[in-house]
Amino acid sequence: MKNNIRKFSADELAAEFEKMGEPKFRAKQVHEWLWKKSAHSFDEMTNLSKELRVKMAEQFSFYSVTENIVQKSTDGTVKLGMKLHDDRLVEGVMIPDDERSTACVSSQVGCTLSCTFCATGFLKRERNLEAGEIYDQVVLLNKHALVHNGKGLTNIVYMGMGEPLLNYDNVMQSIKYITSPEGLNMAQKRITVSTSGIVRGIKRIADEGMKFNLALSLHAPTDEKRNKIMDINQSNPLNEVMEALNYFYEKTGNKITFEYILFDKFNDSLEDAEHLYKLTERVPSFVNIIEFNNVTGVDLRKAKRENRDAFVEYLRNKNVSVAIRRSRGKDIDAACGQLANKNG
Ligand code: SF4
Repeated sequence: MKNNIRKFSADELAAEFEKMGEPKFRAKQVHEWLWKKSAHSFDEMTNLSKELRVKMAEQFSFYSVTENIVQKSTDGTVKLGMKLHDDRLVEGVMIPDDERSTACVSSQVGCTLSCTFCATGFLKRERNLEAGEIYDQVVLLNKHALVHNGKGLTNIVYMGMGEPLLNYDNVMQSIKYITSPEGLNMAQKRITVSTSGIVRGIKRIADEGMKFNLALSLHAPTDEKRNKIMDINQSNPLNEVMEALNYFYEKTGNKITFEYILFDKFNDSLEDAEHLYKLTERVPSFVNIIEFNNVTGVDLRKAKRENRDAFVEYLRNKNVSVAIRRSRGKDIDAACGQLANKNG
């Protein structure tokens, strides 16, 4: 079986090329094509001889992601359905606004977890994405950002399909390339990884000195309620998650973002707001209140506006930094929790 060429670091590739009887500088050129120049095939590497390109194709496989379906929302959001080398599908979203172009990328095909409110959770987890496949989503979404929003990507969020910390190595590798001068050279502070609360993954990020932002998909402020909608909470209870987040804050100095979808009569009372406030006291943080997007087959409903306003007011009166995130791309099923490969 051929090796995936994008699995090799620059040094490993140089060693491979040496074995093939090729000079080291060739490996450097190829590495540049693979990442910085975002090539999608050996044929694009035009400063290499035809013979070498054929030799590489015999020796290595080259997995790249291609655009399958493009949908544009009335609010400017663009959803991309992308095809992987094995014909599996993933989705990514470009969310434009006046100051930013934000890419929301997927980390798994389907998801290992089954949060009850999320369309992706209904899909079977088929496999983890390779680092190169995550990177390619960013490259493709960047092209749409330039065309549709007049500016390239300014921010990347790992909030698409999948739980990023259950595909730890590939996600970290993708971030290394996105932020390295050998790749897209973006600042780590422009990247946010959103997790449902994988304690050992959070601690590992902190220990490895990564500096990107971390968001917790909280969505319920007590174990009792969280267990009902997020199964992962059974093995990673809130107290342990909070300790891990605090550890992350101490190591990185980065505040945590709590993502909180408000559901009618489930987590939108003032008592819930009080529990949430107590969590925010345990670690420096922001709260994003997210509007729920109805998902077929899910019983939960969007909170009433007056309940949302009272909830937010309670938090603001306690000096919690809170923002209401309006849904983007609802008409094309591109909003939070709606990614499900429906058009594949
Ligand atoms: S919310 Fe995230 S972790 Fe939960 S099922 Fe959906 S994609 Fe997976």
